[in-house]
This record gives sequence, structure tokens and C-alpha cells, in this order.
Amino acid sequence: MLLFQRMKRLVLFDIDGTLLNGGKLWRECFEAGFRGVFPSCPFPRVAFSGKTDRQICAEVLAKTGSSGHSIIEDVIDQMIAGYIGQLKAAVAAGRAASEVELLPGVHELLNALIGRTEVTIGLLTGNVRDGARLKLASVRIDHYFAPSFHIGAFGDDHSDRYRLPEIAVARARAELDLHFQGKEVVIIGDTVHDVNCGKSLGVRAIAVGTGRPEYRDEILRAGPDSFFETLVKTNEVLTAILE
Ligand SMILES: [Mg+2]
Repeated sequence: MLLFQRMKRLVLFDIDGTLLNGGKLWRECFEAGFRGVFPSCPFPRVAFSGKTDRQICAEVLAKTGSSGHSIIEDVIDQMIAGYIGQLKAAVAAGRAASEVELLPGVHELLNALIGRTEVTIGLLTGNVRDGARLKLASVRIDHYFAPSFHIGAFGDDHSDRYRLPEIAVARARAELDLHFQGKEVVIIGDTVHDVNCGKSLGVRAIAVGTGRPEYRDEILRAGPDSFFETLVKTNEVLTAILE
């Protein structure tokens, strides 16, 4: 019991660039969701990296000149609903199966983690929960986070990614009665935001180089506890999680 208490870990995975790579498909779905609400308005240039879905929507709306808090929240709901509809259609049409890449080593690492009683796995992602579920299902890894994706934090929990770690910790406490703190919380992700978002809680950040090549220098400068080119070396990644 003492050993379990000392080693327990809440391991929270980012999705895009960390577990899978959706290429252009996710962005196409997002833009189609936007056009469903604004059929004649061009989609403005907005960076998606490290942001929550609702944050991206808010930036898109700001660039299209929309204003008014209550109106924006309502329109964001419509955009997200349209985006989820597009994702479902892409999965149903087989596009996701052919265009989405499961990143190397992910199956092996998830299998290794779910076999360890001291480890609780979850997601820490800017994706809204329904989008997260569809993306993971497209590469058949949703079952690792089943049944209800209830551990972790999502883009519909808060529009600010930097608020998600505290939500994930509070949720684990409320739903599992497990109290994680400091380095017992491990965030695994491919952007500087994954490394930085848990710093105020003193979490362990493991960076992976499977995101966009231009992220590399920035993510290393952020000072993750560990960096791996990919997740293929299961035992080394496990050591970094559990040490
Ligand atoms: Mg990512």
C-alpha cells in the first residue's frame, strides 16, 4: 500500500500530435462547422496549436468581427455542433480511417500503462469531449479511455487550456477519490502549452517530438522533465512516467 501511494500517477495525454495525427482532416471539419454558421464568410487565418476548441472558435469570431458575449457563446455552440457533425460524417465515410495516423508506440505504451494498478490514465486536451472520442475512435484507441472519458479535462471544461490540469486533478479526486499532486501528475504532449500548462501545479511534463517539426526548439526551451522523439521506447517512457 505504501509503495502504491508513493508511485501513484495520473497520466494525462494530449491527443493531436501526441497520440495521433489527423493531417488536414480535423481542420477541414472545423472550417466546415464554421461555414455551416457563416456560409458566405471566409475562414480567417487562426493557429490551432495548443488551444481549446472553444478558444479557436472565439478567435475566429473575433476576426470576423462578431461581438457580444452571449451571442458569441451561442454561436460557438453552433460552430462546435457543426464541427462534431462533420467529424462524425468523416468517420462514417471512412476518411478518418484512411487519413488519420496512429502515432508510433502509442498502443504499446497505453497497453503498458493500463496494466499497472498504480497508474490512472486520462486525457488533457483542448478538444471538446465528443471530438476527442471521435478522434480516438478513428484509430481504435478510445477503449483505453472508456467508458465515459470521465478522467482528465477537455475543451468543454474550460476555454483556457492552462486551467485544464487543475480540473483534471479535481475530477480524479471527486470521481475516484484519488488525490494527485505535483509530480504524481504527468502530462504528455507535443507543444509548449502541454509543457507549460501544468507548471503552476508542479506536474511532470513529458514532451514528444511527433507534432509539427517547428515545435521542437520551443518545446525544449520550455524545459520538460523528459523529451522523446516518439513514444516507441515503451520502457524508457514508462521510467520517465514512474521515476
Ligand atoms: Mg497536441
